[in-house]
Amino acid sequence: MPTKPKKILVVEDEPSLVFTLRDTLESEGYEVHVCEDGSSAMPTIDALRPDLLILDIMLPGKSGFEIAKECRDLKYTFPIIMLTARDQEIDKVTGLNIGADDYMTKPFGVKELLARIHARLRRANSYSKTGPLDVVTLGQVRIELNESIVVKPDSEVELTTREVELIRYLVQHANEPVSRDELLEQVWRYEFSTNTRTVDVHISKLRGKIEMTPEDPRYLVTLHGVGYMLKLA
Ligand code: CA
Repeated sequence: MPTKPKKILVVEDEPSLVFTLRDTLESEGYEVHVCEDGSSAMPTIDALRPDLLILDIMLPGKSGFEIAKECRDLKYTFPIIMLTARDQEIDKVTGLNIGADDYMTKPFGVKELLARIHARLRRANSYSKTGPLDVVTLGQVRIELNESIVVKPDSEVELTTREVELIRYLVQHANEPVSRDELLEQVWRYEFSTNTRTVDVHISKLRGKIEMTPEDPRYLVTLHGVGYMLKLA
């Protein structure tokens, strides 16, 4: 059965690169949309709800950094692959810190970009909707992320902002092993004085809130020597 083509939005102001990307991505079966300046990116994203965003950094109107940050502030969870000029290591760090999932240094091979797009789209499973993610159901437990609450059959518990971010990340990577380092990088963004123990403490508290039997977790499980995994059906 043919599935609905995935929508990729390319925000890039270099006509020759736009041409190549459109051509390559369309031949791979993607539905391609293009914004050639930064200022039209957010209205397009809001209207289009792409499955993946390819985002140049240096753009007329608004920078790729600003756009990525706005997307994450709006809780859009689609993967973002940033395009950066050669040797801008600083850009890589900034980009990943503000919520980009990956980056490619120009000039890059389209095959490499395609491989990363496939990988990112595979990871963004059905739980990672392209709009804001609101509700996660774990058996009898309902997590309302926008309200920061967990509703259990006989009680209601509040979540901290960090716990909400942690759940969003775990849901986005549901049924995959997630290491403590990855959580530190992606959820804590290498904040000062955090370490893997910080992650363990938070996971343990979170279990108390979202599991019916936290001492024998069914959903947020420990993978010894690896990290954690959120198991979703
Ligand atoms: Ca540019």
